[in-house]
Amino acid sequence: MVNFDDTKTAFATKTDSQLKKAYWLFKLVANQKLVSFGKWSSALAMKIGLPIKGMVKATVYDQFVGGETIKDCRDTIEELHSYGVYSILDYSVEGAKTEDAFDDTMEKTLQTIKYGGARAGVPFAVFKMTGVARFGLLQKVSDGKELTEAEKKEFARAKDRIETICKEAGEQHISILIDAEESWIQQAIDDIALEMMRKLNKEECIVYNTAQMYRWDRLEYIKHLHEIAEKENFYCGLKLVRGAYMEKERERAYEMGYKSPIQPDKESTDRDYDLAINYILENHKYLYLVAGSHNEESTRMLTNLMFAHGLEKGSKQVWFSQLYGMSDNLSFVLAKEGYNVVKYLPFGPIEKTLPYLIRRAEENTSASGQTTRELNLIEKEMKRRGID
Ligand SMILES: Cc1cc2nc3c(=O)[nH]c(=O)nc-3n(C[C@H](O)[C@H](O)[C@H](O)COP(=O)(O)OP(=O)(O)OC[C@H]3O[C@@H](n4cnc5c(N)ncnc54)[C@H](O)[C@@H]3O)c2cc1C
Repeated sequence: MVNFDDTKTAFATKTDSQLKKAYWLFKLVANQKLVSFGKWSSALAMKIGLPIKGMVKATVYDQFVGGETIKDCRDTIEELHSYGVYSILDYSVEGAKTEDAFDDTMEKTLQTIKYGGARAGVPFAVFKMTGVARFGLLQKVSDGKELTEAEKKEFARAKDRIETICKEAGEQHISILIDAEESWIQQAIDDIALEMMRKLNKEECIVYNTAQMYRWDRLEYIKHLHEIAEKENFYCGLKLVRGAYMEKERERAYEMGYKSPIQPDKESTDRDYDLAINYILENHKYLYLVAGSHNEESTRMLTNLMFAHGLEKGSKQVWFSQLYGMSDNLSFVLAKEGYNVVKYLPFGPIEKTLPYLIRRAEENTSASGQTTRELNLIEKEMKRRGID
C-alpha cells in the first residue's frame, strides 16, 4: 500500500523557509473572496500598467511556475529528476490571438520538444490547440460550419503548426500531450488529435489526446477511439483528467439553453474517471495512459489496478501526472516507489501566465478541498521538522 502521508519524502526538496512560504500561500488562496479580488485586481493592474509583477512573482508565480524561460527551469528539472520525478515543460501563455503569436507558441513548443529530446528528465511535451489556432476558428470547425476561403487557409496554417509540433516529437522520440479545452471547441481538437495519432502512433505512442471525465460523454469517446485504434492498428495515447472549466461550461449551457455537457455531480465525475482508468488498463494493448490528477483515491486505485492487470510499476504505458507546486505527496512518493511520474512545469513571462495562475488559485480555494489537503500535509511536515 503506497503511503501518501509520507511528508518527509513529499517535501524533501523544500527548505524550511520554502515550506513556510508554501504554507502561507495556501492559507491565502484558501480565502475565496481574496482570490476573487486578486483575479479582478491583478487583471486590472496589468491592464493599466501598475507594477504588481514583483508581488505576483513572490507569491503564486514562484509556487506554480518554473521560470520565464526554459533555461530558468533547468535547475528545477534537474532537482526533480534526481528524485525520479520527470518534467513536462508547459509554455503557459494563454489567449494568443494573432498569427505571429501562434507561430511564437509553436516555436516555444518546438524548443521544449528539442530540449526534452536532448536530455533525460523531460519525456513529454504539451500544448494547447488554442495556443496555435484561433478559438473562434476551432469553434466554427467544431460546429461543422462552412469556412470561408480565408478561413480555410487559416485552418490549414493552424493544422500545419500542429503537425510540425507532433512530427518533431516523433523525431525526438518524446510524447506530445494535447490539452483538452472548452467543450464547444473540443470536437475540432479531437478530430485533429486523431489524425495525428493515425500518422504518428504506429510504432510508438507519440500523440496523446486528453479526455475530461467531468463530461458525461467521454467514456463513450474513449471506447470509440479504442475501436478505431484496434481496427487501424495504432496506439492511442490518453491523458485522463477530471476537467478544469466546469463553471464556465455550466454557465454557457444554462445561458444558451442546451443540455450541460457536465456530469450532474462530483460522484459521477469520479465514477467515470475510475471507470476510464480501468477500461484503459484492461485494453492496454492499444491504449496508453497519463493520469493527470491530484486525487489520492484515484491515484491509489491506479496503482492497484496496474498490479491487477500485470503491469509493472515502471511500465512506460502508465504515467502519473501532477502540476508543479501541487500534490508533491503523490508525485514524490510514487516516484520513490518506482512508478513513472511526470509533473507539468509551466514557464512564461509573469504577466502572460496570469490566466494559468488564476486557475490554480481558484482550484485551491477552500471550496475545492485541494487546499485543505495541501495545508494538512505541510502542517504535518512542519510539525515533523519542529518548525512553526
Ligand atoms: C497533469 C495535469 C494535466 C491537466 N490537464 C488538463 C487539461 O488538459 N484540460 C483540463 O480541462 N484540465 C486539465 N487538468 C486539470 C484537471 O482537469 C482538474 O481540474 C484538476 O486536476 C482537479 O481534479 P483532480 O482529479 O486533481 O481532483 P479532485 O479534487 O478529485 O476533483 C476536482 C474536479 O472534479 C470535478 N468536479 C468537482 N465538482 C464537481 C461537480 N459538482 N460535478 C461534476 N464534476 C465536479 C471538476 O473537474 C474538478 O476540477 C490537468 C490536471 C493535471 C494534474
